[in-house]
Amino acid sequence: MARDPEPPRDAERSDAERSDAEPSGVPAATDALSLADEYTVPTGYWHPLPDGRIQCDVCPRACKLHEGQRGLCFVRGRVADQIVLASYGRSSGFCVDPVEKKPLNHFLPGSSVLSFGTAGCNLACRFCQNWDISKSREIETLSSAASPEALAVAAQRLGCRSVAFTYNDPVIFMEYAMDVADACRERGIRAVAVSAGYVNAAPREEFFRHMDAANIDLKGFTDAFYEKVTFSKLPVVLETLEYLATTGVWYEITTLLIPGQNDSDAELAQQCAWLVEHLGVDVPLHFTAFHPDFKMRDIERTPPQTLRRARRIAQEHGLRHVYTGNVHDPEGQTTSCPGCARPVVVRDWYVMRDYQLTDSGACVHCGTQLPGVYDGPVGDWGSRRMPVRLADPGRIGTGNHDRRAPR
Ligand code: SF4
Repeated sequence: MARDPEPPRDAERSDAERSDAEPSGVPAATDALSLADEYTVPTGYWHPLPDGRIQCDVCPRACKLHEGQRGLCFVRGRVADQIVLASYGRSSGFCVDPVEKKPLNHFLPGSSVLSFGTAGCNLACRFCQNWDISKSREIETLSSAASPEALAVAAQRLGCRSVAFTYNDPVIFMEYAMDVADACRERGIRAVAVSAGYVNAAPREEFFRHMDAANIDLKGFTDAFYEKVTFSKLPVVLETLEYLATTGVWYEITTLLIPGQNDSDAELAQQCAWLVEHLGVDVPLHFTAFHPDFKMRDIERTPPQTLRRARRIAQEHGLRHVYTGNVHDPEGQTTSCPGCARPVVVRDWYVMRDYQLTDSGACVHCGTQLPGVYDGPVGDWGSRRMPVRLADPGRIGTGNHDRRAPR
């Protein structure tokens, strides 16, 4: 896959980010699925097929499984004639980041976010920037553990205003993510999903009901790119974006630009025209730089001028908040007031250089309200990333995760 470190997706998710999250010593699990495993829980969104297999209905992969088989995402599988999630409460590690790293530039600016992911992914992007996590077939990757309550307490203790499900796509571990989000909300901490948006309608609605913000990867804008390079389908992602536009979830969009693959003027123009028509001019759009990784090591890094070209095209289509990422480009990372055009949030990568908004997100010069979620003074977390170890993982599986769907 999100918005990685794309998440386990984009290059902003650096090698360091991928490797620094601190494990907290969970006993290694076996590869076999078993409901006796405390990290394995029943799920909803599946149905039996006439031929005896069971189909998972979380995402359009529609994995049809025999007893004991895992789905393409690896963390869901069939045991005891039902689909289970085998990574409830297990994580690949925890790290405190600036929220701008997700990237979210209009959501509690300057604040810190407790980030974590699990293993596996329901996409198969050839350019994955977090493939060591997302493509892991080793359950030992999930070397950290935390109950939803323990995570929420840790976020509070660390002064984080939100938690982020990132590094791999949270829709595949939605039962865990939703319970974490609920535990966090009880403590006034928000939940952020970094996702490719490749999810079916019913689980999509349930999942995002528990989220406060999202960054959705729009990986390209042609069916051919999605099918050949990500092995998924563009229309599903567009449906997710259109759905989010009907909710109160704050969302931003990230497109990782890969030279020669998804960065032509024509494709960018089509993408931006669609965004303006279907989502409006206020949705923030991040163009981020690719670095050679996974199965795309033969393509050069994205030149900064490509990011600037894409930003210019988006602005020409009317999008008001377009950013460049994974490069030093203060101009491309600055938020300008849509009312008076003055720079109101000046950033260089994740460093905030200037902030000219009120506590509620209005321009101090002309009073125009900026789109987004603003709730108090700007944060001062800066660009730090801090791996953390959760000392008390708490009791796993205490949440409301038994969501068997009606069959
Ligand atoms: S969530 Fe996983 S098991 Fe379910 S359909 Fe998607 S890839 Fe397959």
